Amino acid sequence: MGAINPIVEARYYHKEGDIYVCDLCPHRCRIPVGGIGRCIARKGEENMLSAYNYGRVSSIAVDPIEKKPLYHFYPKSKIFSIGGIGCNMSCKNCQNYSISISVIGKKRTTYETPEEIISLCRREKLDAIAFTYNEPFIWFEYIMDIMTCDPDLKYVIVSNGLINEEPLKEICKHADAMNIDIKGFTDEFYMKVCGAHLDDVLRSTKIIFKEKVHLELTYLVIPGYNDSEDEIRKFSLWVRNELSENVPVHFSRFHPDFEMMDIPMTPVETILACRDIADSCGLNYVYVGNILSDDGSDTYCPECGTAVIKRLGYLVDIVALDGCRCACCKNRLPIIR
Ligand code: SF4
Repeated sequence: MGAINPIVEARYYHKEGDIYVCDLCPHRCRIPVGGIGRCIARKGEENMLSAYNYGRVSSIAVDPIEKKPLYHFYPKSKIFSIGGIGCNMSCKNCQNYSISISVIGKKRTTYETPEEIISLCRREKLDAIAFTYNEPFIWFEYIMDIMTCDPDLKYVIVSNGLINEEPLKEICKHADAMNIDIKGFTDEFYMKVCGAHLDDVLRSTKIIFKEKVHLELTYLVIPGYNDSEDEIRKFSLWVRNELSENVPVHFSRFHPDFEMMDIPMTPVETILACRDIADSCGLNYVYVGNILSDDGSDTYCPECGTAVIKRLGYLVDIVALDGCRCACCKNRLPIIR
């Protein structure tokens, strides 16, 4: 603990003349010697592009898995969660801007080796690590080193989905589950609010699904920005047609934050309406988040309608599961336990 940060060479870049071109995410930043990428994770050194954020840990906590949110991946378990610094999006509503938009060198971090992270997790008697809080894909070298250091642990990634195909496929070989934010369903919204393109995120989501990594999606509903019935319907139909009706979808309530303090909290009725639209589009596992709802966070067997897992906030009660089957009708559910 507290050791000097090593200078680690970045993966996925090439050189054009004197300029390093980062190939980790679709921004493909052009970084001169002494410069940094827009995510602050990459720095141009004299002899290489470095992963500036390697091992710089800003946050460590033990969280309920439901907080990621993951509802179908070891429900009711706890997960060792860590975050670093920087982000390759620039969401105006970021809830973690103190770590994601930190000016280089300004955010206090501690250096932890991959072995130290593994041993901290083991010391808590946990068998899973989540990379979360800021954007994990830009922590590529570090999370790869952790995941390959102890392949017996389970690894979860909570991400905005903005990464190029090749590094994503490499991560998918080692990750067990991911929750990807779909921040809206128009490119206009993505460009205006997040500084990225919707198609890049959708492409990643399809790759993750195809690579058979357990996948759940979160859609943060912002009043007047991404909450139209048409947009929610298009998103839901895309999930059903391009992924599967069994991919869990979490509609989450927006709270004013960062540069969107003037936007009101999402009305509860809007969140419930989103759930109803997604239900009507044929999605089997639609959840509401950031609101207390009688049944909006429960898991139902799509075959017989039995509530198999009941949730209130982070209180979880597994009431009718026999392994991964509905205890009532024996239908197999897409839940990993
Ligand atoms: S990972 Fe960072 S440095 Fe690389 S292209 Fe994306 S934003 Fe730029």
